[in-house]
Amino acid sequence: MKDLHHLSARELNAAFLKGELSAVKIVETFLSRIEAHDKQIGAFLSTLAPRALLKAESLDKKRSQNLPLGKMAAIPVAIKDNMHIAEEITTCGSKFLTNYKAPFSATAVRLMEEEDAILIGKTNLDEFAMGSSNENSAFFPSKNPWDLSSVPGGSSGGSAAAVAARLSPIATGTDTGGSIRQPASLCGIVGFKPTYGRVSRYGLVAFGSSLDQIGPLTATVEDAALTMEVIGRNCPYDATSMDLPTESYPLSPQLEEGTVIGVPWKFLDQLKPEIKENFTQSIEVMKSLGAKIIEVDLDILKYSIAVYYIIATAEASTNLARFDGIRFGVRSKEAKNLEEIYEQSRKDGFGREVKKRIMLGTYVLSSGYQDAFYRKAQKVRTLIIDAFEKAFSNCDAVMMPVATSGAFKSGAIQDPVEMYLQDIFTVSANLAGLPAISVPSGYDSKGLPLGTQILGPQMCDVAVMQYAYCYEQASKHSRIPGGYE
Ligand code: GLN
Repeated sequence: MKDLHHLSARELNAAFLKGELSAVKIVETFLSRIEAHDKQIGAFLSTLAPRALLKAESLDKKRSQNLPLGKMAAIPVAIKDNMHIAEEITTCGSKFLTNYKAPFSATAVRLMEEEDAILIGKTNLDEFAMGSSNENSAFFPSKNPWDLSSVPGGSSGGSAAAVAARLSPIATGTDTGGSIRQPASLCGIVGFKPTYGRVSRYGLVAFGSSLDQIGPLTATVEDAALTMEVIGRNCPYDATSMDLPTESYPLSPQLEEGTVIGVPWKFLDQLKPEIKENFTQSIEVMKSLGAKIIEVDLDILKYSIAVYYIIATAEASTNLARFDGIRFGVRSKEAKNLEEIYEQSRKDGFGREVKKRIMLGTYVLSSGYQDAFYRKAQKVRTLIIDAFEKAFSNCDAVMMPVATSGAFKSGAIQDPVEMYLQDIFTVSANLAGLPAISVPSGYDSKGLPLGTQILGPQMCDVAVMQYAYCYEQASKHSRIPGGYE
């Protein structure tokens, strides 16, 4: 048998069910890998060793008594630290929330626990999930296991780094503008952003409520599918949760005959040569599987960054109003009256990027500017949705790169606009609520991973996963970074 940490989540589960591995052995192995490697990587903000071992022991007992076991039995899962686990601290990567103990678990977390997944730790993120590099975490930046001097992407960079270095077979992420797909691409793993409303946002600390989705980061498409079968459920506590039956994700390496893939070549005009070459190769793979490739017009996506950073900051400014040192957040000790408590606590508690976004969001919503910015952005958002609808009337899926480059060096991007432009290929799926996946597609000239992106119409999560599986099986780019084998 392969080394335990080389096994996919499905393989771990199968080995556990067959009695080849105990749940305790699985948990101990991953905890000791975290112990050995995470000082350099910084993927985890905390581990949940006692809780994980207790759960593992109970699973071993259940198995020995032949009691029924859940779909994710004995699979360790790392949780991005903006999702609640009952009785554990949720920091959101912010100093402000270091005292916040969650009174309940997020629905997605609860569903995985009910299916006997083992929660192993909480992963690092850009503060309140705002960022593309993990450099905005208030605690420490996560590093890319492929090159410790490069970023793992963001904001779910801790989760992506954890899976890439096999410190956990599965991690959850959240994607408001690309935060699952971009770090997955930069770390050489799979990241899936479901249709808006497919996974409950209950128990996720809100950033941009009309954009946020929880989804899996995994080493294989099969593991992403397995996670979606568990967390893709209707939930009464989230008003935007879709009232649809839970789906299963049957995967076949054969692409369905007549599949048409749309590529927005004109919009992709400015790609760096090595990204273009890598992307063209991934299109060739789909062609070799029998897909018909057509050009679709998504030129409007050139406005998507402007639209996203107006809508996301507007929503963030209202969502983050609850962190005031009274209802939530560490209260400033120096403040002498109520006004000062609000002011000082927010000043001390929030980092620079978060403050900037609250100010920007407040500005675009303020009277006199609302029409010029916020409402206009909403109108362009509708045009983006329409453009996708039109594209999908001619094709089954759209493909584009995930990121404008492979992982960049820590500290290399200082200009905020340059950083925001990193999200040019990802934010549109959030604006239009579409399912989209990042799958490893090869390496850049520095040997760092790249990903390709497949997007589908709303609710076509199963189809997107299936296309990604075909691509993955035909291309087989994923491997473990050197030093972590
Ligand atoms: N990088 C984007 C931002 O900073 C996306 C973040 C996310 O998806 N959480 O807003």
